[in-house]
Amino acid sequence: MIIVIDGPAGSGKSSTAKEIANRLSIQFLDSGALYRAITYLWLKADKPDKAIFFENLPTVKLQAQYRDQTFFVQANGEDLTRKIRTQDVADHVSEIASHKAARKFVNEFMRNLVQKDAYIADGRDLGTAVFPDADLKFYMDASLEERSKRRFDEMKSSDSSITLKDVKENLRSRDEKDQNRKNDPLKKADDAVVIDTTGKTFEEQVREMISIIKE
Ligand code: C5P
Repeated sequence: MIIVIDGPAGSGKSSTAKEIANRLSIQFLDSGALYRAITYLWLKADKPDKAIFFENLPTVKLQAQYRDQTFFVQANGEDLTRKIRTQDVADHVSEIASHKAARKFVNEFMRNLVQKDAYIADGRDLGTAVFPDADLKFYMDASLEERSKRRFDEMKSSDSSITLKDVKENLRSRDEKDQNRKNDPLKKADDAVVIDTTGKTFEEQVREMISIIKE
């Protein structure tokens, strides 16, 4: 079984998917974390030529596992779970994720992973491109103002230099790139259930979605 949640940056997809996974005792898959991991590798290698970087991508040994409320990501044995959450990674991830080779690599990894268990996954193109036959599709949205405030509150304790303005600009520009890219853009699937979380509490949105899943 696979349930997907797509939507713009900071719409609360990951935290909601995680909570639903916990309450329903299923697995959680954070597809954005996988794109972030690739971006981290590219930055760590000092921004090499993309053609060469993508040519070598299939040799990267990616591992992902959800446990203890955390989506752990490793590449070639290095734990990237925290390292992928920096502003530098956030600033470059949409560019890296726009390349076909990056999408092919991540998509193959995800399709393999979900064969082993029941999953709820979050991303941008899961309902349209990766899992068009998903058992259930959600599309979560909220105003840019609200998404920026929430993301800023999450980030400010670990990065004191960050401002609300920076966060808002990053979300806005990522959404723009994600919506306008040629390969698998951010898009609501025709058969997705829309959840607008503006003004809703976390508990309200989780309950609403669980009741739809149980229908
Ligand atoms: O979900 P998160 O905000 O961590 O995703 C980081 C970036 O990864 C997105 O802005 C987008 O560029 C890319 N992404 C994607 N397709 C997905 C998930 C994420 O292109 N399914």
